[in-house]
Amino acid sequence: MTMSEPTEVSVRAEVRAWLEANWSPDRGLVEWRNMLIDSGWGVPSWPKEWFGRELPVALEMVVEEEMKRIDAVGVAKTGIRRLAAATLLVHGSDMQREKFLRRSLTGEDTWCQLFSEPGSGSDLAGATTRAEFRGNRWVINGQKVWTTSAHHADWGLLLARTDSNVPKHAGLSYFVLDIHQPGVEVRPLRQMNGYASFNQVFFTDAEVPPEMLVGEVGRGWAVATTTLMHERRGADGIRSWGMASDRPGRVYDEERAEIATVMEPYKWYPQRAGRVDLVLERARATGRGSDPVVRQEIAKLLTMSKAAEWTALRARAAQMQGRPQGPEGSLGKLVSSHVARAAARVHTLISGADAMLSGEDGPMGGLIAEILVSVPAGSIAGGTDEIQRNIISERVLGMPKEPRTDNDRPFRDVPKNLVV
Ligand SMILES: Cc1cc2nc3c(=O)[nH]c(=O)nc-3n(C[C@H](O)[C@H](O)[C@H](O)COP(=O)(O)OP(=O)(O)OC[C@H]3O[C@@H](n4cnc5c(N)ncnc54)[C@H](O)[C@@H]3O)c2cc1C
Repeated sequence: MTMSEPTEVSVRAEVRAWLEANWSPDRGLVEWRNMLIDSGWGVPSWPKEWFGRELPVALEMVVEEEMKRIDAVGVAKTGIRRLAAATLLVHGSDMQREKFLRRSLTGEDTWCQLFSEPGSGSDLAGATTRAEFRGNRWVINGQKVWTTSAHHADWGLLLARTDSNVPKHAGLSYFVLDIHQPGVEVRPLRQMNGYASFNQVFFTDAEVPPEMLVGEVGRGWAVATTTLMHERRGADGIRSWGMASDRPGRVYDEERAEIATVMEPYKWYPQRAGRVDLVLERARATGRGSDPVVRQEIAKLLTMSKAAEWTALRARAAQMQGRPQGPEGSLGKLVSSHVARAAARVHTLISGADAMLSGEDGPMGGLIAEILVSVPAGSIAGGTDEIQRNIISERVLGMPKEPRTDNDRPFRDVPKNLVV
């Protein structure tokens, strides 16, 4: 007997029945998330042996709709743990998946991404943090920067150089590093919007056991590419980050506490996306909606924002048809940073010079000012706009590659402004 293929109707009925039987706002957050994970409804597009149901992405959206309908809390998917889980699902060993996937989905383990360095951000493959195999473990020395959430993290996704005698992409390896060890020093940095989401992270003989190498030695670039693809693809999803339900119940209380602590570094992410959702409300409240120039700019913004939403849906549809992660992710990320910047301009048009007032006295208690100083981050994080344009021109439009002089010689011979 063959099982019938799941359809929108069958999935909706099945998840609705399961939620009716199991959802209760009075459960603990971790208990509820474990139930979701065991049922396969927490990550329904994942493989069956790893907590999923192998549903196509389109049907995953049906599950999300059903959960949203009753305001049921989902598994922990935001922040770097989403990237950690997605990367380990593809490249991790069974031991790593066993150890990390469930605890990342319940939110018990938190993560940071140890990629960028003072001398390598866009040129990530130029990383100089070293991992040397000594005795029976990897020993890490060097520095990372821009590390979101390192001050809350249990584990880090580390890209480090294991060989300087081969071209730069071939000499990198990818590790899971325990942040809570003596050789790791995390120092926070403050941003212009007042938050301190980022850190510098220094390694002095930090240790990684051999079983925490992800993939093979020297193949770290391929693993990092998976992480970056997910990061870029997720860029349109950041709008809802950090928003807690205000409903009563233990599970909501614990989710609110999670957002207030672990998710604190992401509190400003909705502002970073431009808060297009506030534009009409602000235009009405200030009476600026009757100005034809302002109306025109609002219309342009909303048109662009809708088109961006549809681009994201197109990317999802491509994924649904089984096409590999590809250029749509880069397109979506570039579009979302355009939308964010356009939204900041429109907020300024609506609020005038008041837009610059931060603190309680400013428009919306300083929220508009926060939008203005948060929006530039979207054009930098997870690959700058210029890098996204390079990717689109080379991979989508088939234009000639940027001339490079550093890809075909040993990394140690590549000129750099650091001593390696
Ligand atoms: C909100 C936020 C969160 C972040 N979180 C993390 C994190 O958790 N972990 C982490 O590892 N990193 C993180 N980053 C760092 C981020 O990935 C880097 O800032 C980004 O990759 C750019 O690198 P860079 O800052 O070194 O700039 P650079 O690479 O030095 O770039 C400087 C300028 O030169 C341009 N440029 C560089 N190369 C080219 C080129 N080939 N063609 C055209 N123009 C070019 C860039 O577009 C940019 O305008 C975060 C950044 C932000 C803003």
